[in-house]
Amino acid sequence: MAAPQLVVVCGGGVIGSAVAYYLAVKHGTKPIVVEAVAPACSASGKAGGFLALDWCDSSPVGPLARRSFALHAQLAAELGCDTGYRRVRTHSISVKQGQAGSNVGGAGAGAAADAAKRLPGLPGWVARDNIGQASVIGTEEDTAQVHPELLTKALLRRMEEGGGSLQIAAVTGVVAEGGRVTAVKVRDSGSGEERELQADAVVFAMGAWSSQLREWLPQLPDISGLKVHSIVVADPQQHTTADCLFLAYRGSDGKSLEPEVYPRPGGQVYICGVSEDNVPVPATAADVHPRPDAIARLQGVAASELGSAEVLKEQACYLPCSDDGLPVIGRVPGLENAYVATAHSCWGILNAPATGEALAELIVQGAATSSSLSAFDPGRPRLGAGARR
Ligand SMILES: Cc1cc2nc3c(=O)[nH]c(=O)nc-3n(C[C@H](O)[C@H](O)[C@H](O)COP(=O)(O)OP(=O)(O)OC[C@H]3O[C@@H](n4cnc5c(N)ncnc54)[C@H](O)[C@@H]3O)c2cc1C
Repeated sequence: MAAPQLVVVCGGGVIGSAVAYYLAVKHGTKPIVVEAVAPACSASGKAGGFLALDWCDSSPVGPLARRSFALHAQLAAELGCDTGYRRVRTHSISVKQGQAGSNVGGAGAGAAADAAKRLPGLPGWVARDNIGQASVIGTEEDTAQVHPELLTKALLRRMEEGGGSLQIAAVTGVVAEGGRVTAVKVRDSGSGEERELQADAVVFAMGAWSSQLREWLPQLPDISGLKVHSIVVADPQQHTTADCLFLAYRGSDGKSLEPEVYPRPGGQVYICGVSEDNVPVPATAADVHPRPDAIARLQGVAASELGSAEVLKEQACYLPCSDDGLPVIGRVPGLENAYVATAHSCWGILNAPATGEALAELIVQGAATSSSLSAFDPGRPRLGAGARR
């Protein structure tokens, strides 16, 4: 069968953008990305962007993650623009009590020097007062970071330069005939006009909104969303270094908290870590709002880590999750030209490139050769839990 030319990709997060990028740039097809709100408006714009070579090795995601870790380095060179990619050292720090305190802008040189003697390996900007244990859990060889929003938008830009296009519209259904999808139904975000978009092949990459897919494609597994909060604070003097922190401590309210702190190149620090269970995914990404108490907890982390740092962003978004913890990537059962790529949970930024690369091969060549997708088959029996952070 001839390779499809008109591929409609539903969802402009990092997964849809990576699929579209590989379709356009590596296979010469002209994908149309249909995004309901704006590119990278949800998890893919609000994630941390931490990347690890082998942290998924204990699950079937391991080989995909290893391939993706290598592709991120390639993309940083190929995309030819700033995506905030850099190799990092990564630290696990548990705090005995009180605050996981550090003090960018606060620690005196003497205190920092004393602390450096006591806890070698920690960067100078991390305060040592209450630290119970600290260890290096990743080096520049096996951990890295990227700015998820910059990466997603760069992938889309290159996809457009390669002949693809982006439409801002909500996908509202599919038209199928004889075991094939022939079109997707869309509603334009501005005019509200309903229309059909013809397609030789369709990819559904709608993140946590993939839960809607079962209304049209009941053969797909359940996808749910987990709401997680994050903030971005300023580090204008760029005290922080290329070191990511996984903290575990008990806040002043007695509750435990495991925030992740990722300094970014260019004077910003990203902090995430407060999730909210059983919050239904709202109609669109534009309807997701952070809860003030969750943001306040993260601001407490920022204050103890970074002093009086200005908060630049307060945000929340949904991790897309499957019931067995593994991504769902592959052909939709019963439809020869419909594909799905979702449920990457907390590793979607890491695994986007290898997902895009392999799914583009499956669509264009009939088989994924760069990575095996068999463990992620949408028709698989539900087995057990996948890798979680
Ligand atoms: C707080 C937080 C921190 C994270 N940190 C990391 C990290 O450090 N490293 C890592 O690897 N991963 C991380 N992740 C996970 C990662 O962000 C996600 O796995 C990934 O972004 C999911 O991408 P996606 O494209 O599947 O979904 P999304 O980014 O949610 O994109 C889906 C898109 O589909 C659109 N859409 C929905 N419905 C429709 C429709 N009907 N029609 C058209 N478009 C539609 C939405 O508007 C949205 O733009 C983090 C996630 C969170 C929440």
